[in-house]
Order: sequence, then structure tokens, then C-alpha cells
Amino acid sequence: MLFSCGPSKCDKAVLKKQSNLMVHHRSAAFLELYESLIVQLKQLCDDHEGEVLVLNGSGSSGMEAALLNFLSSGEELLVIDSGRFGSRFALMAKRMDMIPHLYDVKQQGVVDTAMLEQMLSAYPAIKAIAFTYSDTSTGLLMDPKRIGAFARKHQLLSIMDGIGGVIMNPFSMKESQIDVCIMASQKGFWMSPGLCMIALSPTALTRLNPQAPTYVFHFYEMLQKQKQNALLQYTPAVSLYFALHQALCILNSRPITYWNQFYQRQYERLYTIITEANGCIKQAPSLSRSVLLFTTSKSASRLQQRLEQEFQIRIELGLDDQEDRILRIGNMARYSEEELNALAHALKCCLQEENN
Ligand SMILES: *Cc1c(COP(=O)(O)O)cnc(C)c1O
Repeated sequence: MLFSCGPSKCDKAVLKKQSNLMVHHRSAAFLELYESLIVQLKQLCDDHEGEVLVLNGSGSSGMEAALLNFLSSGEELLVIDSGRFGSRFALMAKRMDMIPHLYDVKQQGVVDTAMLEQMLSAYPAIKAIAFTYSDTSTGLLMDPKRIGAFARKHQLLSIMDGIGGVIMNPFSMKESQIDVCIMASQKGFWMSPGLCMIALSPTALTRLNPQAPTYVFHFYEMLQKQKQNALLQYTPAVSLYFALHQALCILNSRPITYWNQFYQRQYERLYTIITEANGCIKQAPSLSRSVLLFTTSKSASRLQQRLEQEFQIRIELGLDDQEDRILRIGNMARYSEEELNALAHALKCCLQEENN
């Protein structure tokens, strides 16, 4: 049982579509699916005036592709460091010879607009702001409305890593004024890793670099082709497209607030399970609903091992945890009552025995 923060448990109906008979990606059947997929993704992100792209690759490839298509080497950007994933933008930017300026919010836990203003005064050449909505490494949740409004005010492009953040936490492209939102198939879409989805606002469309130095991840060209009936310039991961389409059909059969509330309730349930097993949940001013970070008094890696070996339950260790005390449980899938009870039982067994 996967209680990890992605990949997480897959939905049966979604997996079934994933094992459909293969179709050709230039066939009518695929084109129809593709068009429907794009419409559904727009609906999910509340982004009807913008565009959405689907790329073969994990979430990180979407983050890197976004930088590559909106910024050139030598250009400056502001990166919000909320943890391992927020700072990944800076790492990528450096390797592409861009100049990232880091704003570390790991201690404060929230973005202070005054600090953003200060950084912009210090580095007036900044063109974009990149951040992670829900940082799976720290559990911190950033405020897209605040960042989106700041970016709009200063004509900066806002690039959001929404991987494992959207669906579980409320998000609307339109309301937040975010320009680029990156998602990944294994986090919140109840399916395997392998696809990333990128929503682009109307503003983002005007700022795409037609000379981006890439073939596979060339957004401008992809959008041109998309207009000519989905003639992709490489072979799409067809089976995953089928799975994603099925997941979107389920997700879009309800308003997004339904899923936000579903995950809120499941979060509360997981919270109780962890605290009743004596886990101590990490607190912060704004916590993501997609992940629960907790500490134990004993070795985290030993607990993880026992859960896997004795109960076939997979949870994750903290990243950057020198003391081996932090564990993480994902809240990115729909768990049954039996599964939640099994987790509660297993955690109690392991933690109580450890204490004796
Ligand atoms: C998992 C994750 C990523 C990286 O995605 P991959 O699909 O592993 O490349 C980036 N950002 C966040 C917030 C994540 O949780």
C-alpha cells in the first residue's frame, strides 16, 4: 500500500484505461482523446482563456521546460525557497546559466510581500518569479494569490510548481493570476508517473520564447501543432494519456471544491491516525493538505523499514533529516476505510513496540 507522497495509490478505473489496446498517436481515436484531455485540463485549472500542454516526462522535466521556454541564459529570476522542490528551480536555472535570486521562506513559512518588493529593488532585472505551491519536502503551502498579484503588479511572469499541490489544495489559475502551473501525473491524478501537464495563462502565451533552445520541450512549436489537430512533434506516451483522461473524467464530474474538501477530511483523518500513534505533526503558519510531516522519538528509517516489511505499507522519510526522526505520509489518493485502518494499526504496533 502506497501512503507515499507520489507515486501514490492508483485508481482501478484509471489503471484499466492505461492498459487499453495501443492506438496510433496520429489516429482519429487519439486525436479525439487528446482534444478532450486539453479541455478537461483547462477546466481543472480554471484556465479557459489559456492553453495546456502535456509532456512526456516527470514533473521535474516540466519545471525545467518552463524555465527554458520563458527565460534565456543570463536572465534573472526570483526563486522562493520553501524546501527541496522550491529550491530545485534555482538549481535548474543555474545549470541553464540563468541567474536565480533565492528568497528563503523555510523558517517563516510564508511569503512576505515586503520582502519580495525589497528583492525586486535590489535586483531590478528580475523577469520572473518561480515557486512551489505545496512543497512536499517541508509541507509548506505558499499563497498563489499573493505571489500572482505581486507578479502581475510588476509585470513578472509567475511560474508555479503545482506538482502534488493542486486538487488536494484549492487553486484557480484565473483567481490567482498565476501564469504557468506545472502538474505531474503521479501526484493527485491516481495514476503512474510519466506525464507532466503545464497550464499557461494568456499572459504566458504572449511571453513564450519562439527560439527556445530545445526540440522536445518547445512550447511555442507544440502550441502551433496543437492548433493543427494535435500533430505532436514526438511520440506521446499514449497509454498514459488514456489513463489521465479517465482520471480527469472522474475529477471533473464534481466541482474542484468537492475534491479540496475530500482531501481536507482525509487529511484530518490521517492527522488523527498519526497523533494517536504518538507521532508529532509538524506545525507551520500554512500547511499543505497533500502531505503530513511528523517526528518520532525513535529512528524514522527503522520505522519505515518495519512498516514495509511487516505491513507492506510504504511511507517516506524526511528529506534533509540528519537525525533520522522525520517521516512523511502523502494525502494524494483516495484511501478506503480498510486501508486507513490498516495504516492506523500498523503505525500503532510499530511505535508502541519501539517505546517498550
Ligand atoms: C514530486 C515533486 C516534484 C518532482 O516531480 P517528479 O515527478 O519527481 O520529477 C516537484 N515538486 C514537487 C512539489 C513535488 O512534490
